[in-house]
Amino acid sequence: MFARAQSARPNILYIMSDDHASHAISAYGSKINETPQIDRLAKEGMRFDNCFVTNSICTPSRGAILTGQYSHKNGVYTLNDSMDPKKAHLAHHMKNAGYQTAMIGKWHLVTEPQGFDYWNILPGQGAYYDPVFITREGKQQHKGYCTDIIVDFTLDFLKKRDKTKPFFVMCHHKAPHRAWQPAPKYKDWLKDENVPEPDNLYEDLTKRSQAAQRATLRVGDDSTETDLKTPRPEGLTGKELRKWAYQLYIKDYLRCVRSVDDNVGRLLDYLDQEGLAQNTLVVYTSDQGFFLGDHGWYDKRFMYEETIRMPFLIRYPKGIKKGSVNKDMVLNIDFAPTFLELAGQKTPGEMQGRSFASLLAGKTPKDWRKTMYYRYWMHLGGGHTVTAHYGVRSQTHKLIYYYGQALGKKGAVDKPTPPEWEMFDLVKDPREMKNVYGDPAYAKVTAELKKEMERLRAYYQDAE
Ligand code: CA
Repeated sequence: MFARAQSARPNILYIMSDDHASHAISAYGSKINETPQIDRLAKEGMRFDNCFVTNSICTPSRGAILTGQYSHKNGVYTLNDSMDPKKAHLAHHMKNAGYQTAMIGKWHLVTEPQGFDYWNILPGQGAYYDPVFITREGKQQHKGYCTDIIVDFTLDFLKKRDKTKPFFVMCHHKAPHRAWQPAPKYKDWLKDENVPEPDNLYEDLTKRSQAAQRATLRVGDDSTETDLKTPRPEGLTGKELRKWAYQLYIKDYLRCVRSVDDNVGRLLDYLDQEGLAQNTLVVYTSDQGFFLGDHGWYDKRFMYEETIRMPFLIRYPKGIKKGSVNKDMVLNIDFAPTFLELAGQKTPGEMQGRSFASLLAGKTPKDWRKTMYYRYWMHLGGGHTVTAHYGVRSQTHKLIYYYGQALGKKGAVDKPTPPEWEMFDLVKDPREMKNVYGDPAYAKVTAELKKEMERLRAYYQDAE
């Protein structure tokens, strides 16, 4: 097995940003930016092309990563939920396995972190400028830019760590989360550029599902003055409004990403300088993807490709072939079992994910998953009026069921929507522009996916 083949267990440096879509990473073929530091991990390690989130929103993804469970098992359905503090999660298990554990940056799981030897976290979403952090000693404000400070703290921890133990460090950025406030030094970067627009920035949503039409994620129409940092010019509407808002939004987003990228470089440089690079497994990921103007939207939540796909780059010179690419489906609930296997531990019985350590070694088990199950629950907490849904994605198709629950912006009950289905042919239509649900040509595959969805719901014990 992967872990047993190594003479020493690897250190694990887990870097996670917030809302960084893989199509804003050059190693994933971004058309809008370059991320030279993050790309080092792809060049020197493995790129996962089909890593998916099981519930595309910040807090639930973090819960799934730590517990190895879907939202309906770990109780973290929405932004307002916390994990059961009495239950052990990834950090406890790593600590029990002899690792020194640390959590630095955006925690966003409501209660204080458990299972970490050291933690230094942002309260809630945290601030970009001069942020307050919380430790066991209490709250303290720090001068500077959040993304830099999180890495300052991570480097401080690494320098002062107990060198007799391997480390498991979670370095979690707030960036590039809304409201996309860049570091002062990058404030004017891209100012005179025109960032390429996605091909479906001006998509006519009236041709889509009711769920898509009611969602308030539209660049321009649903952007706020806080998002864009400037008032909307009077009379600007429609396509022109979107064109204008997209440039403002995407530039600030990319400016935030640039600081994340710089800071990945600082961490990798430190590992090089300290001779730790060989025996440290480094991950770069994001809690989910993001719409970068795709379908005319910002934000996440929907089970569409741009938001369920997580970037996942992993480097471990002792165990992962340089420049390799993996196309197997891995999920955020697999992270904990994987790290535990690398630490020489079995997957705890309550975890629903599966270790993909064998994929890192270049071997895909014959019975590796060919489909994934997704469920969005944030309708319970309101926000952006995204209707509740669940679905299944295979390697070629996607079936989504909006079962009819929606809430208004402030959590007030909005009128329930009629249940509806969407089905996409990911081979012919990777941008998911045409709903083929009900098309007789897809009757057979639709029936198969419905059956598979029910199988997965039973397997993960997601009953109504
Ligand atoms: Ca997020």
